[in-house]
Formats: sequence, C-alpha cells, structure tokens
Amino acid sequence: MIVNMSEAATEEQINHIIDRVREAGYQPHVTRGTTRTIVAAVGSGRRHEIEALRVAPGVEDVVQIAQPFKLVSRQVKPHRSVIDVGGVKIGDDAVVVIAGPCSVESREQLFSTAHAVKKAGASMLRGGAYKPRTSPYDFQGLGVEALKILREAREETGLPIVTEVMSTEDVDLICEHADMLQVGARNMQNFALLRRLATIEKPVLLKRGPSATVKEWLLAAEYLLSGGNHDVVLCERGIKTFETETRNTMDLAAVALARELSHLPVIADPSHGTGRQSLIAAVSRAAIAVGADGLIVEVHPCPERALSDGVQSLDFAQFEQVMQGVSEPLRKIARPRMEEVVLRAQA
Ligand code: PEP
Ligand code: MN
Repeated sequence: MIVNMSEAATEEQINHIIDRVREAGYQPHVTRGTTRTIVAAVGSGRRHEIEALRVAPGVEDVVQIAQPFKLVSRQVKPHRSVIDVGGVKIGDDAVVVIAGPCSVESREQLFSTAHAVKKAGASMLRGGAYKPRTSPYDFQGLGVEALKILREAREETGLPIVTEVMSTEDVDLICEHADMLQVGARNMQNFALLRRLATIEKPVLLKRGPSATVKEWLLAAEYLLSGGNHDVVLCERGIKTFETETRNTMDLAAVALARELSHLPVIADPSHGTGRQSLIAAVSRAAIAVGADGLIVEVHPCPERALSDGVQSLDFAQFEQVMQGVSEPLRKIARPRMEEVVLRAQA
C-alpha cells in the first residue's frame, strides 16, 4: 500500500504516518519528491489499518501497489534513480557505455582493452574474473589474479570496474577490488546471493535470466532493495526463444517496459543478446532508441583468440564504430524523456 501525502503535509504529519505504518506491522519506505512525499507500507501487516489512514491529517490518498514488486516500482518512486558507480552516473541524461573483455585473460590483454575503450568513449570497464561457463571444461576465469589486474586497470585509467560475482563466498573479496558487482543471467534467481548482495555498499548490475519474465527480474531486484541495497542497475541480455540464428533473443521491449515499471536504470547487453559481432552496432542503436540508460559491450584485442565469447566480441576498430553510431546527437534525439512514460498508478 502507498500513502500519498498532500503537498501541504507537514513534517509532523509525515512522521505520524511513518509511525502508524510501523504500528500496522509494515516497513515504511519514504520517498521525498520535489512537491510531495510518498510513504510505502511494504511487507505484510494489517491492511485495514493502512486503508484507514485515508482520513489522517496530511494524507491525500491511500492506494494499492499494483505490482508484486514494491520498492522497485515507479509507483513507490516516480522519479528515475541515478546510480553512482565510482563517479560515473548511470540513469542520468548521458548514456553510459561499459566495455571490456568477456574474461580477463592477462594484464596486457586487459590494459590494452581498457585504454582502447576509454579512448573510444567508454566510461566503465568490464571483465570477468569468475566465469559462469556452460561446460566445466571451458576457461573458468583467472579469479583473484584477474581481480588484481582489474583494480590496477582502474587505477591507471580511472575507469570504474564491473565484474561478475557467482558465489556468496567471493562477495567480500570482489567488493575490495570492483566498483560494481554483476549478477550474471544464470544467477538472477540465486536468492542466497541476492540476499548477501543486499547488504553490501557497492552497486549491483542485475542481468535478466535467460528464461525470466520481466516480473521475475524485477522481483529479483526487489530482493536487493528490500534487503537494503538501493543501488541496482538492470541489464537486458537476451532471452531463450526458438530462434537459433542468434545466441539469445534480445528483448528490447523489455528494456522499455522495465523502465516503465521501475525507477531503476536499465542497460542493454547486445553482445550476449545477439552473440554476433555484426549485430552489435544496430542493436546498440536500437537499445538506446527504446530508452536504455547504457550499454555493456564485449571488446577484445583479438576476438579470434579470446578464451571466452570471441565470436560476439568486437575488436578495437569495431568498437570505435559502435561508439560513433551511438554518438551524442542520436542519444539526445532517441532517448524518450521520462515524461513520455505514462504512470498507471491504480486508485
Ligand atoms: C558476461 O557478462 O560475460 C556473462 C557471462 O553474461 P550473462 O550472465 O548475461 O550470460
Ligand atoms: Mn561473455
């Protein structure tokens, strides 16, 4: 349930509602907008007590939260969230491009990629240290060694780092090295991992599971927010369909829908979304056109030699071309303004 305070509500009236929400057995979550305050009653409690607050002083209305996800919902927080990752703002006006290799393979490979993607205009660096591979015989990542290389690359280039965390055991170590922790598609519903990441003070990049609905994806994000971590960025990376020509089916409608339903920033991963070098530029432009707040793209100095995901990785020249395609004028024209998104709060 949401208690919408009136524009004229006093601080005392707001505090009274917060207390009453708690007394009714719910957790109060307060969003202070420029003109009005919203108090969300989250969890399970005595609903009739919240409904009765309709007549409390300073209250304009009490409405049901329409979706099963609450804190993630635009109803609870109508204004878009901007997530700060080591000084880079995701969800603000600029489209943020994160680039780097699928896996960190060596110091030289990561450093040359970091310099190249920075020069081309990327503002964050990606690189896997712990790799979720379909086959146990495939390269599994360099682990701690890769984390150290990533950290050095950040020190040298200033690019904040995002890297995947696969297990609760690795969370503390990865937090020491990275600016943002990625939950990979295969772990989207690893609830123990989500609960643990809800307690950290680093932002989380939450990829959509290959067979997850948008609702399941947003509920996975709800685990993070309800556990205390509000710094969450969603990432569409393609889903499984009957199509076999692309590695996954890039669901661009889901980018627009997630931004409509949630205040969290949404970025797109055209590399895993298509699995094909040749499609990355077009799908990057399309993702921005539907409102993506950023892109995450795999780049390798020599894709044919990559230890993972070479066929979908761009070389430096190809990445530069992608960056030119998503240049500032396109980003400004194509990005739908937030006001275009109709809020469908249910009375
Ligand atoms: C990756 O980013 O390299 C990766 C493994 O992504 P996903 O979890 O989307 O497959
Ligand atoms: Mn990859």
